[in-house]
Amino acid sequence: MRETCIESRPRALQGGPPVGNARRWRPGGRPQGRDRGRFLPWTNGAAMRESDSSEMEAPETLPGVGEAICNCRACPIGALDNRAVMGEGPRDAPLMIVGEQPGDVEDRAGRPFVGPAGRLLDQRLAKAGIERERAYLTNAVKHFKFARRGKRRLHKSPTTGEIDTCRWWLERERAIVAPRLVLALGVSAARGVLGKTVRISRSRGEGITLGDGAEAWVTAHPSYLLRLSGGKKAEQERLFDADLAAVKDRLEELTR
Ligand code: SF4
Repeated sequence: MRETCIESRPRALQGGPPVGNARRWRPGGRPQGRDRGRFLPWTNGAAMRESDSSEMEAPETLPGVGEAICNCRACPIGALDNRAVMGEGPRDAPLMIVGEQPGDVEDRAGRPFVGPAGRLLDQRLAKAGIERERAYLTNAVKHFKFARRGKRRLHKSPTTGEIDTCRWWLERERAIVAPRLVLALGVSAARGVLGKTVRISRSRGEGITLGDGAEAWVTAHPSYLLRLSGGKKAEQERLFDADLAAVKDRLEELTR
């Protein structure tokens, strides 16, 4: 069984407060002003002098990103009783699929897209003829944000500030995997990929060229489909299937 992030955390940090000034620091940035010489976002809380920071460069490999996000406290979500969930899939996958954040099931399993929404995604990908095993699946936000209700942990949507802060890690994954097409599932994922907020209904159905030449496509998150019923569910499932079919066709063109 692989070691989980939460097991690798110093005990004092498990469920504890954010390390350092989470609002001021951004992944990849340097502490400014009175924070100079304190912590960097991907450290596990060990004090670090500014002179040490040259040894702590941005990770260049997926395992390196996975290790770094375990210790990231750049936004308050990382201080909850959770673990970072790294993306998974081939290092050179032509397709990257991005969700919002790990859910309760994903947090417990330490893997992305293994809960109810992930199972629905698997079904729809198979229907569209897209092999999940050939895609790299990840999330815009790497830690599970929730509110406790008794023993239950209820999903809470990340804020735009939290998505923007975590975007640095998604960009690292994109730089390493270099997918030709990035499929964003839902508004939060679209913000993580595009760096701005878009409406799914206006943005779906066509590619958006990203700065590195890859194409971003936007569709609904499968968890949205799970919440619907009746005619609206059927209509949204039809749109979702059409989006996946278009993504498959475009991916074939881009990788021909
Ligand atoms: S959600 Fe992202 S930015 Fe926030 S602590 Fe986790 S890895 Fe860091």
